[in-house]
Amino acid sequence: MEVSCHEIWREISNYLDNDVDPRLRERMERHFASCRHCAALIDSTHNMLVLIGDNRAFAIPADFGKRLYGKLAAHLASSR
Ligand SMILES: [Zn+2]
Repeated sequence: MEVSCHEIWREISNYLDNDVDPRLRERMERHFASCRHCAALIDSTHNMLVLIGDNRAFAIPADFGKRLYGKLAAHLASSR
Protein backbone atom coordinates (compact mmCIF):
# COMPACT_ATOMS: atom_id res chain seq x y z
CA MET A 1 0.00 0.00 0.00
CA GLU A 2 1.23 3.45 -0.91
CA VAL A 3 1.63 5.99 1.87
CA SER A 4 0.35 9.47 1.17
CA CYS A 5 2.17 12.74 1.76
CA HIS A 6 -0.22 13.29 4.67
CA GLU A 7 0.85 10.06 6.34
CA ILE A 8 4.49 10.87 5.73
CA TRP A 9 4.18 14.14 7.55
CA ARG A 10 2.17 12.66 10.37
CA GLU A 11 4.96 10.15 11.00
CA ILE A 12 7.92 12.31 10.09
CA SER A 13 9.22 12.97 13.58
CA ASN A 14 8.94 9.28 14.47
CA TYR A 15 10.72 8.44 11.24
CA LEU A 16 13.58 10.79 12.04
CA ASP A 17 13.76 9.40 15.58
CA ASN A 18 13.99 5.90 14.10
CA ASP A 19 10.78 5.09 15.86
CA VAL A 20 8.56 3.69 13.12
CA ASP A 21 7.69 0.12 12.27
CA PRO A 22 10.27 -1.24 9.78
CA ARG A 23 7.54 -1.92 7.24
CA LEU A 24 6.23 1.62 7.50
CA ARG A 25 9.78 2.91 7.24
CA GLU A 26 10.23 0.99 4.02
CA ARG A 27 7.01 2.37 2.58
CA MET A 28 8.01 5.87 3.59
CA GLU A 29 11.37 5.45 1.90
CA ARG A 30 9.62 4.26 -1.22
CA HIS A 31 7.49 7.39 -1.08
CA PHE A 32 10.59 9.60 -0.80
CA ALA A 33 11.98 7.89 -3.88
CA SER A 34 8.89 8.74 -5.90
CA CYS A 35 7.83 12.08 -4.39
CA ARG A 36 10.37 14.82 -5.01
CA HIS A 37 8.64 17.25 -2.74
CA CYS A 38 8.71 15.01 0.34
CA ALA A 39 12.27 13.97 -0.48
CA ALA A 40 13.39 17.62 -0.54
CA LEU A 41 11.57 18.38 2.68
CA ILE A 42 12.99 15.39 4.50
CA ASP A 43 16.42 16.36 3.30
CA SER A 44 16.20 19.80 4.81
CA THR A 45 14.59 18.48 7.98
CA HIS A 46 17.33 15.91 8.29
CA ASN A 47 20.02 18.54 7.80
CA MET A 48 18.42 20.61 10.51
CA LEU A 49 18.44 17.64 12.91
CA VAL A 50 22.08 16.96 12.12
CA LEU A 51 22.86 20.54 13.12
CA ILE A 52 20.88 20.15 16.33
CA GLY A 53 22.66 16.88 17.11
CA ASP A 54 25.89 18.75 16.59
CA ASN A 55 24.95 21.22 19.34
CA ARG A 56 24.67 24.00 16.84
CA ALA A 57 20.91 24.41 17.08
CA PHE A 58 21.23 28.13 17.61
CA ALA A 59 22.80 28.57 14.20
CA ILE A 60 19.49 27.58 12.60
CA PRO A 61 17.47 30.51 11.28
CA ALA A 62 14.60 31.18 13.63
CA ASP A 63 12.03 30.98 10.85
CA PHE A 64 13.26 27.68 9.45
CA GLY A 65 10.45 25.65 10.94
CA LYS A 66 7.87 28.16 9.85
CA ARG A 67 9.13 28.13 6.28
CA LEU A 68 9.30 24.34 6.26
CA TYR A 69 5.73 24.00 7.45
CA GLY A 70 4.60 26.71 5.05
CA LYS A 71 6.00 24.65 2.20
CA LEU A 72 4.44 21.52 3.61
CA ALA A 73 1.04 23.16 3.92
CA ALA A 74 1.24 24.37 0.33
CA HIS A 75 2.21 20.89 -0.86
CA LEU A 76 -0.61 19.20 1.04
CA ALA A 77 -3.12 21.74 -0.22
CA SER A 78 -2.07 21.13 -3.82
CA SER A 79 -2.19 17.33 -3.48
CA ARG A 80 -5.69 17.26 -2.08
ZN1 LIG B 1 4.98 13.19 -0.87
